[in-house]
Amino acid sequence: MDIDRLIAQRSATINGSGIRRVFEIGAGIPPDLKIDLSIGQPDFPVPRPIRDAAVRAIQEGRNGYPLTRGIPELRQAIARRLKTDLGWTLSTSAKPGAPSEPGVLVTPGTSAALLLACQALLNPGDELIVPDPYFVLYPYLAHFAQAKAVFCSTYPDFRLTAERVERLMTPRTKMVILNSPGNPAGVVNSERECRDLLDLCRRRNVVLLSDEIYDEFAFPESRTQTMVGDRARPVAPSPARLKGAEDCVLLVRGFGKTYAVTGWRLGYASGPARIIEEMTKLQQYFYVSSPHPLQWGVVAAFDVDMSREVAEYQRRRDLVLHRLAPLTEVPLPGGAFYAFVKVPDRYGSGSNRGENFFQSGVTRNLLIVPGRTFSQRDTHFRLSYATPIEKLERGLDVLAEMLA
Ligand code: PMP
Repeated sequence: MDIDRLIAQRSATINGSGIRRVFEIGAGIPPDLKIDLSIGQPDFPVPRPIRDAAVRAIQEGRNGYPLTRGIPELRQAIARRLKTDLGWTLSTSAKPGAPSEPGVLVTPGTSAALLLACQALLNPGDELIVPDPYFVLYPYLAHFAQAKAVFCSTYPDFRLTAERVERLMTPRTKMVILNSPGNPAGVVNSERECRDLLDLCRRRNVVLLSDEIYDEFAFPESRTQTMVGDRARPVAPSPARLKGAEDCVLLVRGFGKTYAVTGWRLGYASGPARIIEEMTKLQQYFYVSSPHPLQWGVVAAFDVDMSREVAEYQRRRDLVLHRLAPLTEVPLPGGAFYAFVKVPDRYGSGSNRGENFFQSGVTRNLLIVPGRTFSQRDTHFRLSYATPIEKLERGLDVLAEMLA
């Protein structure tokens, strides 16, 4: 069989994720020597109430198909959270809500929410503006819809601003992706930047997709306050929190990173009811639903206090800055658990510097991710500090040596 002839262009023309490649190269390093700063998932245990609730759901037989849009109990929990956090009033009935009320859809991972949004909104030739550097999936979201990814360079500070975005808008622009706190740089947009982006998108009739998978991981200097009842709660700024945002912002959040359940594949989308309805229709055929017992696992997740874990990540972030900022450029990572660090010029040109630095790390048993994995250029590297502090310290010693 000539299998090559059978493979679709859609698949044949794309590369596997660069993070996977790092993982495979890392598999060749003995575990006791390996210093892995490449992994983008939390290293703390899943909170007990969440684990217990999922196990209970399996034991109680909640294992069949759930509703496509998500179990009502979880959708109600999300509605309560978005009410207190953003002031949104969601429609959570089994039927489509009033057109003016934002809808909510539980998805198998945040990736699924992103994919469904783009499948629902992008026609061939439409344009999707994505920040560069970006989460690895973003360019492919356009590709899978035969649309065009328009890269908005955010170098050197990694801030997606209205000014940078507006220059790239055309009559074909349908959507802008904002990712704050961001992967790979951990940069958190200010309230002002969020407001300007929202105003721009509204003026141009473009959806602002706000990927907030790292919303809980925001450190004090980048937070703003939201009122929950009569108590102020510190939160990462979000365009979704601004007045009237729900007619223009498509909010995407997840459970995987916040509660260390990346393998459970759970996220959600909320925003204009009409868009959520289209995404729900597509979900029926793409995924059918999100994992049923695991949805029960996260019903009470919003009541779990993660402040200790966030404080620990802040301690590690501070250590990264303390060790690396004197040696090279490290734009302040105000959230998530990454830093995107500039590689010195002597490691090569703008198209292979990150790769050369990465290879040099591998010879010292250190794994980071070259910038080209997340960008059209290759001048930086991403390190993840979601790793025990002893290992992080060893990694920083090696990096300090390589950067000195
Ligand atoms: N968005 C961003 C910015 C991410 O970094 C990731 C995962 N690394 C995702 C979405 C996808 O997350 P999930 O595992 O929930 O699909």
